[in-house]
This record gives sequence, C-alpha cells and structure tokens, in this order.
Amino acid sequence: MDRIVVVGGSLAGVNAAEALREHGFNGELTLVSAEESLPYDRPPLSKQMLLEDMAPEKLLLKPTDWYEQNGVTVALANPARRLDSATQRVVLADDSELEYDGLVLATGSSVRELSVAHGDPRLHVLHSMEDAVRLRAEFAPGKHLVLVGGGFIGLEVAAAARAQGLDVTVIARGPAPLSRVFVGDVGQWYQGLHERNGVDVRCGSALEAIEWGVDGAVVTLKNGNVIKADIVVAGVGSTPAVEWLANSGIELSNGVACTPDLKTSLPNVVAAGDIVNWRNPIFGEQMRVEHWTNAVDQGRHAASTLLGNRDPFASVPYFWTDQFDTKMRFVGRTTGADQTNIETMTDDKLVATFGRDGVLIGAVCIGSPRQLAKYKVAIQNRTPWDEAVEASLTAAR
Ligand code: NAP
Repeated sequence: MDRIVVVGGSLAGVNAAEALREHGFNGELTLVSAEESLPYDRPPLSKQMLLEDMAPEKLLLKPTDWYEQNGVTVALANPARRLDSATQRVVLADDSELEYDGLVLATGSSVRELSVAHGDPRLHVLHSMEDAVRLRAEFAPGKHLVLVGGGFIGLEVAAAARAQGLDVTVIARGPAPLSRVFVGDVGQWYQGLHERNGVDVRCGSALEAIEWGVDGAVVTLKNGNVIKADIVVAGVGSTPAVEWLANSGIELSNGVACTPDLKTSLPNVVAAGDIVNWRNPIFGEQMRVEHWTNAVDQGRHAASTLLGNRDPFASVPYFWTDQFDTKMRFVGRTTGADQTNIETMTDDKLVATFGRDGVLIGAVCIGSPRQLAKYKVAIQNRTPWDEAVEASLTAAR
C-alpha cells in the first residue's frame, strides 16, 4: 500500500493518520478536511469556549508542525465531493482528485436542521469552532437565550449561558431532558439541576414557529406557549455525514455499514467515528456511537485494519458531560434497556445502572467518579443483571 487518504479532518481522522504512522506506514498520507482550520477538539465548544472565551487555537488536536513532521499532507477547506470506487479516487470540491490504495472514511456528523427555521442565519447551531465564536460573541448578562432541544448541546449551552448571567429557557420535546439517551430518572435529575440553577426547562412540547423581528425572536410552542428570545440555539441532534458517498456503491445504513473490524463494503476502504454502523461483539448489537472516545479508538482501529489487523472493534462506549459544577460519566448503552437500578440519588449525586435481557449494559455516575471503572469491567464481562444489582446492594451496606 503506497497511498492512503483519510477523509475527514476529525478526531477519528487524525487518530487514524497518527496510528498509520505508528504502525509503520511510510507511504503518501493525505488528510482531507472540509474545515478551514486544522483539526480541532469539539467537546470544549459547548463548555470552555462559552464559559472562558477560550482562544480557538487552544482547541487544535495537534500542533501546526505535527502534520509536516509526520508526513501528513493536509487539504483544508476542500471537502470530498465524490468517491469513485472503481478507479479508487476521491474527488474534492475543487475538482482535484486523490488516488488511493487505502482509504479511511471519517467524516463525522452533520447538524440536523430545524425544519421551521431551515437555513436561517439568525438561528445558532453549535458544531464548529466558528459556531462557538459566533454564539459567544452574542452572550451578555440579562439577554434571554432559548435552546431548542433538550439534548447534550441544549443542556451544556444552557449551563454555560447561565454562568455568564443570561436568562435561559430549554425546550425539550420529551417528558424530560436527555430523553434520547435516558428514560426516567436521569433526565429528571438534570431537569432539577437546571431548575435549581435558574434555567426554565419546558418539557413535552415541540416547537411550532420562530419569528424574528427587530428586537429578537418570538418562539412559539405547539402547546401555545410564546417565549421572547434575544438568542435562539438549536441542538436537535446530528446525522452521519455520508451524503457525498451516495453514488459510490458503498453500503449505507444509518451511516456506513461496516464489518466488526471496521471494513466497509468497498475494497481497501475502512471507516471510523460517528459514521460507523457496526456490530459491537460485547453487546451483540448493531450500533453507531457519537462519542469522543469512540472516535479516537475507532480511528486507531480502522488504521490497523487497513494495514492487515483482523480483530473486531469491541468496546464499551464512554462519554461525559459537564454542567454547572457536576460531571456525569457514562459507560455502556441504554438502548433497549428494560431494567434500571437507582443506587444513589441526591441533589449532588446520582448512580444508576441499566440492564437488558438480564445483563448489565450501562451505568451512569454523577458525583461518583470512582465507581465507573468497576462498571466498565462488569459490562465488558456481560455480568448478569441480578448479580450486578446484588453487588451494588452489598457495597451500599
Ligand atoms: P442530541 O444529544 O441527540 O439531542 C438532540 C435533542 O433534540 C434530543 O433530545 C431530541 O429530543 C431533540 N430534538 C430532535 N429533533 C427535534 C426537533 N425537531 N425539535 C425539537 N427537539 C428536537 O444532540 P445535540 O444535543 O444536538 O448534540 C449533537 C451531537 O453532539 C450529539 O451526537 C451529541 O451526543 C454530541 N454532543 C455530546 C456531548 C457530550 O457527550 N458531552 C456534548 C455536546 C454534544 P427527542 O428526539 O427525544 O424529542
């Protein structure tokens, strides 16, 4: 293999490039990015960038000279437009073509559009460094910020904005925030946390319309509530960024359909990060994971697969979220959970586990970081649900 192209200036893409060099790949290596900036880290966009006005340069995943030192040619602001799998070429937006012997797809996610405000530049989203800079510039104490979507962006931005003295309203369609990921108590715990910190959390009603006037916006909900806003941010989820692959012949199915070792349906093409839909052997479940650690680990794994490794990508997903003075850490899954065990729930602390088909599949720890490693091992070992609950009761005695 002489030429490898990595498409996606993402966390997964950079980790794939780094791992390729670490595994001894000495050929031509090109990283293609849609963004103008060198690849950067996204978690701070909804945290430190809004809280501390952090300089964008501090977000870079690698120092500027890392790419040259590692022989990685970077094509910035030049997204891949088409994949010609028959001739093994990636066609970029400027019509240039890159031939490859090996290809890593790591294009990540695109922001889901809010249909009532399609393309309106006054509506903020938070996906890129530029989005965060633009949103931070509008923050001022006393302004009213309305967040559409009670997911991770909605809650993290709400917490950062409250800390800056803004009035904040969160609109969540579900019965509680975070209802995409958690049923029941965890979302309600977050609702309580936000309400104690002065956020107005409105659950169970979808957005009807947003109308902009000279002095801000009027947000109308389907239940008839009308909310005036100075700033409106939508955080209504993301979708795998795979449109450019539509006519390539690759198998797409909620992202890119991959084998357990992260190969795609095309020869010499692997994938990593948010776009990967693969069967995770630990859970026996087809999944797509939009977490930071998954992008790192899959980027590295996809690189090794391209160079001949055949191991499946088996992982226990992990993510964290920081809101006000709390940190949530989560391991595993909640999809299809049919059992929940609340071990601890106070204003400062929440420890809960989730089971499916008689097996422990997930655990959330807020204000209790040390328990997480234990749960990760228990999930990896497919611990029976009853045994996991009994162990937690014994530990609590
Ligand atoms: P998200 O976590 O998927 O939450 C989106 C929320 O928007 C869901 O709660 C969903 O609720 C709601 N929603 C969907 N369509 C809607 C609509 N038309 N109107 C109103 N609400 C709607 O996505 P996100 O907060 O936008 O974040 C984007 C991505 O960044 C996700 O992958 C997320 O995991 C990631 N992220 C992660 C972190 C972290 O891990 N700490 C932090 C920030 C962002 P229902 O569908 O239940 O109604």
